[in-house]
Amino acid sequence: MRVLVTGGAGYVGSHAVRALIAAGHEVVVFDNLSSGHAEAVPPQVRLVVGDLGDSDLLDGLFRQERFDAVMHFAAFIEVGESVRAPLKFYRNNVGNSIRLLEGMQRHDVLRFVFSSTCAVYGIPGRMPLVEDMPRSPASPYARAKLAVEWALADSASAWGLGFVALRYFNAAGAAAGGIIGEDHDPETHLIPNVLKVALGQSDKVKVFGTDYDTPDGTCVRDYVHVDDLALAHVRALETLQSGEQRYYNTGTGRGMSVREVIQVARDVTGHPIPLVEEARRPGDVPVLYADATKIRSELGWTPVHDDLGDIISSAWAWHKSHPNGYRSVQGRSAG
Ligand code: UDP
Repeated sequence: MRVLVTGGAGYVGSHAVRALIAAGHEVVVFDNLSSGHAEAVPPQVRLVVGDLGDSDLLDGLFRQERFDAVMHFAAFIEVGESVRAPLKFYRNNVGNSIRLLEGMQRHDVLRFVFSSTCAVYGIPGRMPLVEDMPRSPASPYARAKLAVEWALADSASAWGLGFVALRYFNAAGAAAGGIIGEDHDPETHLIPNVLKVALGQSDKVKVFGTDYDTPDGTCVRDYVHVDDLALAHVRALETLQSGEQRYYNTGTGRGMSVREVIQVARDVTGHPIPLVEEARRPGDVPVLYADATKIRSELGWTPVHDDLGDIISSAWAWHKSHPNGYRSVQGRSAG
């Protein structure tokens, strides 16, 4: 298929681009490079630098490239920022998704794979999370994702759009070979921050909250390898029919605490990785992990990297070879 990948220069998007190409699909990346990296896009892939708010640019691209499908990664991701600047998130994450969908409707593109989030469930009453549990998003970030899910569902009924919403758990790790990986500014995620200590770029990792009602007092999350997440997108795309709507929890089903993550990183890196206990981070939910039964049975998706040691080893390979992220490599320009 010919696939438009928005946000294809970002962390998950760039891994999905490679998975799509490996599966024989043709890809064009659309990214405004506000947080993505041109270097993350393979040289043979067309990179269009532009904003989803630019409907004329999108129309031209749809006319020119005749896409069969769209994978939509482009979005702001920092939950804390969404609380401080909600309208920025609604404009970018909702408004631009709507413009993209309008473009698809005008050009009769009926397949859409959407980066949603397990945060749409909010503070869950029970664990693991199952897709039909009530949605009660607790931040502007999560509410904006759910708003797009609603727009998708209504589009499926009204004009035949077929979509899969993948509700991500915690994307982690990097592609084999350490060619592409995670590079956010600022970096708020646990695993890169832990590995920064092992690299000598910071002294201690901060542990946000040690008094949660969890086995060791720290938050529990479901870390899924970014290549496995990428593969879920390809499977979703390849099974998608116009007019249908599907939602999948995209996690492994295994919860790991912050302390467990740090211990695995110590084992992988051989570095003592000292930690400092800090107050809880506002908005953090104590425990989140997926019931992944649905995606496993319906998409035949099984995480290849079913072990946190594997995931952290791959992230470590990337961070060691790119201590300054993509600033460590030579750039490419858009084409
Ligand atoms: N966390 C931490 N120190 C950090 C970054 C994150 O203790 O430097 C904790 C955070 O409070 C949460 C877990 O690690 O409990 C995962 O956070 P992350 O930001 O990686 O992902 P989230 O689950 O918030 O999407």
